[in-house]
Amino acid sequence: MDTVGRLIEARSALCFGLAEALSDPPDWMAGSGIDWPLFPPALELARLTGAPALAQAVEALAGIPAEPLPARRRRYRNLLARPGRPSVHLYQSLAVDGRLAGPTMLDLEQIYRAVGLTVFPGELPDHVSVELWFVGWMLEQAVSQSPQRQSWSALAREFVRQHPARWWPNLARSLVELEDAVYAPLGRLLSALTAELERPVSSRPADKKRFRVPQMAGSCSLCGFCAQVCPTQALRILETDRETGLVLNTAYCIACTRCVQVCESQSLEMAAPPPDGALPRVLYSADRAVCPACGQPTVSQAELQAVADRLGERPFWLDYCLDCRMKLNGASLR
Ligand code: SF4
Ligand code: SF4
Repeated sequence: MDTVGRLIEARSALCFGLAEALSDPPDWMAGSGIDWPLFPPALELARLTGAPALAQAVEALAGIPAEPLPARRRRYRNLLARPGRPSVHLYQSLAVDGRLAGPTMLDLEQIYRAVGLTVFPGELPDHVSVELWFVGWMLEQAVSQSPQRQSWSALAREFVRQHPARWWPNLARSLVELEDAVYAPLGRLLSALTAELERPVSSRPADKKRFRVPQMAGSCSLCGFCAQVCPTQALRILETDRETGLVLNTAYCIACTRCVQVCESQSLEMAAPPPDGALPRVLYSADRAVCPACGQPTVSQAELQAVADRLGERPFWLDYCLDCRMKLNGASLR
């Protein structure tokens, strides 16, 4: 699939995912944000467009912690669906006409009917999730009917201009202002997605020069700081019995540059992604040291060497594992 096709597909998948996330929480919302099915299309869109707002939204999404489903649903009800007056309104006619079931809702019903769709019983046609689903559906037609790609894309954009663009930005702001661990990131995502959907797809593919991933530019101590600050777990420290490695999965990298900034030894720099795309690859690896007393693998040789360099010497006990260091008598440690 060409880049424009991937872009439309990612927009569509993100609309469907966000539609589910902004209604009664489905089972998958019990997991952390990085495991939600809307995470990959959000990341793909951020990478394809290079839009900073999308990258920030993906970063916020990655920070959503896991939570048992009943607690997720309580959170949703309290913030968005409480009987009476929830603090955020999810219906367009309420936002635009000042009342439920206003003229906007009738207008939407006619639009859906014109393309042969009816709204699922029990939901109103102007709920944000229904509008998101409808935009996702139109973009899905653009992907599956490639000769009509332009016309379906234009139709989706016109719908966004006429309806979502008139109220999603305010809704997104209200969600962000909740400062809630789940719904504030979703507000950021809705805001970034709205801006993206208003752009013609022909103005993309994105400026690829803006998308960079970290690569090794010096010697690495395998300290793991970069992996600790990576918001999407694109960078990880992986260990076998024999080796420790710093591994990058470019499919998860949002080019936030945190890893580069945190590395004290300036071992990383941002560079064009490798031609093998999203495959995880080892940026650096080193053998693990072996405790001379018990024979168990300890930390990497690279980390030991970095500590020795800092100390200006390599004391004999540095090579021992923590358990064996404890067993050594105080005299021998001095
Ligand atoms: S790249 Fe830098 S921060 Fe990351 S493990 Fe290596 S030395 Fe540590
Ligand atoms: S730039 Fe570095 S910290 Fe940011 S997502 Fe990519 S690997 Fe992670």
